[in-house]
Amino acid sequence: MDAETDSKLKDALKNLDRAGKIAGIDPEVLALLSNPKEALTTSVPVRLDTGKLQIFRGYRVRWSDARGPTKGGIRFHPSVCMDEVSALAFWMTFKCAVANLPFGGAKGGVACDPRALSPTELERLSRSYGRSISLVIGPDRDIPAPDVYTNARVMGWIMEEYELTQGGTRQPAVITGKAVAQGGSLGRDDATGRGAYYLIKEMASRTHRELLAPADGLVTVAVHGFGNAGQHIARFLHLDGKFRVVAVCDSRSGVYCAAGLDIDRCIEVKSDQGILDAARIGGGATSIEPAALLLLDVHLLIPAAIENVIDLQNVGQVRARLVVEVANGPVTMDADRELAKRSIDVIPDILANAGGVIVSYFEWVQSRTGNWWSAEQVHERLQAKIASEFRTLVQVLKTIRERGHAGLDGSLGTLTFRDAAYCARATTDRCGYSGNGW
Ligand code: GLU
Repeated sequence: MDAETDSKLKDALKNLDRAGKIAGIDPEVLALLSNPKEALTTSVPVRLDTGKLQIFRGYRVRWSDARGPTKGGIRFHPSVCMDEVSALAFWMTFKCAVANLPFGGAKGGVACDPRALSPTELERLSRSYGRSISLVIGPDRDIPAPDVYTNARVMGWIMEEYELTQGGTRQPAVITGKAVAQGGSLGRDDATGRGAYYLIKEMASRTHRELLAPADGLVTVAVHGFGNAGQHIARFLHLDGKFRVVAVCDSRSGVYCAAGLDIDRCIEVKSDQGILDAARIGGGATSIEPAALLLLDVHLLIPAAIENVIDLQNVGQVRARLVVEVANGPVTMDADRELAKRSIDVIPDILANAGGVIVSYFEWVQSRTGNWWSAEQVHERLQAKIASEFRTLVQVLKTIRERGHAGLDGSLGTLTFRDAAYCARATTDRCGYSGNGW
């Protein structure tokens, strides 16, 4: 990104600005939705194994609670800062709205390199951060979940720290993405990838029939990012049989095979070696740079790692026919407009990766009621929700395009699935805004 746009939050807010123009949203609603409700910066002191005390910086931003308690993950990553956490909290707000969940949006994180921490240091960091945010979170207030480099164990530690502030009472609904043994939901672990898979199947049967039978054989796929979301979406598409996953990568290494990769083998090697080593994966796999993977000539490109990987610098070289954003914010706004000009559809993060927070909602409901669902029930409900929200989006896109032709001045250019996602609930539920009391 260039200096002008290197604020992730500013870039994210441009989506709302467009939606305001397209859907004619009340300027007061836009003003409320353009500012965080609450933003916490906190010290996270951790005693390292060497005996030294290190102070990390932690954050939790509650962007909007207009729809209900705020919801969103916790990220441990060196890039975590107030700007990034705010952009992520903003996206969570719209993700929960698009999925029609009774939640607002939030996000949190700690600026750290979790790969450089020992398991005991990671536990102390998680608990210290958990104590720092314990006054902010709560089952009816703000409900964290996993995100980049956090998982069910980290959620368990944070939950326990919160419970200590509540007289030691059990509070399973304060967090989602926890282990099943601690009251988590079946089907939460692979929910982001599974949701994206259900979405791609729905698209294939409705709007993107070329995904059913491309002229040149199987649908080729490249997946950028091989963490929880990337591994699962690659595996689901591979198992489906109609897709050929030709490339996957993590932040440091990537593998390519024109005939298709054995994804189970890639997952095995990644978990044993920590990297995607082509020689160990075998089966004709060769190495590919993560940056080059984004430019492959494939049907379907799935960015599934972090923000801003497709920007004005590389967007001109993107050759995929369709982009499905499994990461949050992987395409900058300017790059998004370029793809729209070239008629490359981008299915936006706030729908494409909503499977995670949808199953988080199912988990929250189960934690509150003590009424546990089977894995099949979770999968069925996730599929039904994703399919119905995608159908809503298609309908909204049709409506704004028809209205756009009639009323807008043309300066907004092509109206996209992303525009539809940001407008989707704006016209039907004014995001909880009554207009009174200010
Ligand atoms: N971190 C995930 C996301 O970005 C899940 C959030 C949640 O389940 O609350 O959507």
